[in-house]
Amino acid sequence: MVDNALSPHGGKIVERVVPTPAEKLRGLTQVPIRGPQARECLGIAYGFFSPLEGFLTAADVDSVVKNMTLASGYVWSIPLVFDLSEGQIKEMGIKEGGKLLLTYQDQPFATLDVEEIFSYDKELMAKNVYGTTDPKHPGVKRTQAYQDKFVGGKVTIVNPPVINPPFDGFWFPPKAQRELFAQRGWKKVVAHQTRNVPHAGHEWLMKGAWFAANADAILVNPVIGEKRPGDYIDEAILLSHDILRKAGYFREDIHTTSLLLWDMRYAGPREAVFHAIVRKNLGCTHHMFGRDHAGVGTYYDTYAAHRIFNELPDLGIYPVKTLEWWYCPVCAGIAYEEQCAHKQEAQRFSGSLIRSIIEDGVKPPRLIFRPEVFDLVMESAEKYGHGSPFVNEAYLKRPDPVMTIPAMQL
Ligand SMILES: [Zn+2]
Repeated sequence: MVDNALSPHGGKIVERVVPTPAEKLRGLTQVPIRGPQARECLGIAYGFFSPLEGFLTAADVDSVVKNMTLASGYVWSIPLVFDLSEGQIKEMGIKEGGKLLLTYQDQPFATLDVEEIFSYDKELMAKNVYGTTDPKHPGVKRTQAYQDKFVGGKVTIVNPPVINPPFDGFWFPPKAQRELFAQRGWKKVVAHQTRNVPHAGHEWLMKGAWFAANADAILVNPVIGEKRPGDYIDEAILLSHDILRKAGYFREDIHTTSLLLWDMRYAGPREAVFHAIVRKNLGCTHHMFGRDHAGVGTYYDTYAAHRIFNELPDLGIYPVKTLEWWYCPVCAGIAYEEQCAHKQEAQRFSGSLIRSIIEDGVKPPRLIFRPEVFDLVMESAEKYGHGSPFVNEAYLKRPDPVMTIPAMQL
C-alpha cells in the first residue's frame, strides 16, 4: 500500500516549456505536425509523461516493446515515437545532431532535437504492444500507418498554447495538479479514467473506489484526444463530471476534475499501465481499473488489465480493481456481480441504451442518470456539439478546440 503522495515516475516532473523569441527559432527546419503529435509534445513537455523528455530513441523503443521498460529500467508500456518518411528526411536535409521546429496551426510550437534517426519493426511493435497484428485494431492501425523512419530526441515547447474555454478550467499539468492536492490537504487520491458522461453506475463505482481506497479524494481525469463519430463530445464529458460535484453527488472537498490530452491506443493491459504512470505523475496514489480497461472489441481478456499489475514491480500507484456491476431490482440498488445472488434479475447498465434515451431527448430516471447531468449534456450539445451530445461530422471538422497556438512571426 502507498499512503502518501508519491514521487513522480522516474523521480521528478519533467518540465520542458521554454518560451523562446522568434529570432532564436529562425533558420530551423520546419516540420508541420497534427493534433495527435501536438498533444504528445504537450504531454512530454508539461511532465504528464515523466520521465520522458522527448520522443523515444531506438534503445528505448526496443526496450519498451520487448520488456515494457525504458532502457533506463523504468516501467513504460507504450512507445511514443515521431515518424517521418525517408523522403521527408532527405528533402528537408534532416540529420542527427540537428534541431527541428515543429509547427502546429501554422505557428512555431516546439523544437525536437534530432538525437537519432532509426527504423523499427512495426509488426513487432504492434504484436507486443497490442497483442495482435490485426489491422482492424485501432492501435495496430496507428502503428502500421507510421512512416518508415523515427526521430528520437528531446522536445521543448517554445510557444506555449493558450488552452481555450471550457478546457482551460480543467488544465492541470502535474505540477499544478499536485499543488492543488497539497492545498486541499489530499494525500490519497484515486484516479478515474473515463471517456464517458457519467451515469449513476459510474458514480457508484467512483464512490466505491473512494471508499475501498480509504482515499481523501477522487480525481476524474477524462482523456481528451482524437474522436470518433458516436463518442460523447469532450465538453459534455468534462462538464458533466464536474456537475456531479456541483450538484452535490460528491462533496466539494472530495472530488475534482482535470483533463489528459491523449489519443487512446486501446492497448488494454499495456494502456492500463500507461494510465497508472500518468496519474502517478499527477500525484494520485490509487487508480481505478474496471472490466476491459482501455480495451476494444474482444482483443483482451476482461480482467487482463487487472492481472498485468501482478507481473510488474510496485509502480507506486495502487490499482483499485473494480468488477462487473449492475442495477439489481431485487436489492433495489447497484451491486457488483460478486456481491448478490440475483444474476438472473440483474440489469446491466447498457451504454448504448442510455445513449439512445439521450438521443431521443428523454430524461432518464434519476436512479440511472442524474437530471443535472442530463440537462448539462443537452446544454453542451447545443453549445459545443452542433446540436448533438455525440460526435458528428461537423464536430470532427472544426479546428482543435482545446488549444490555440499564439501567432508568432519568424
Ligand atoms: Zn441483488
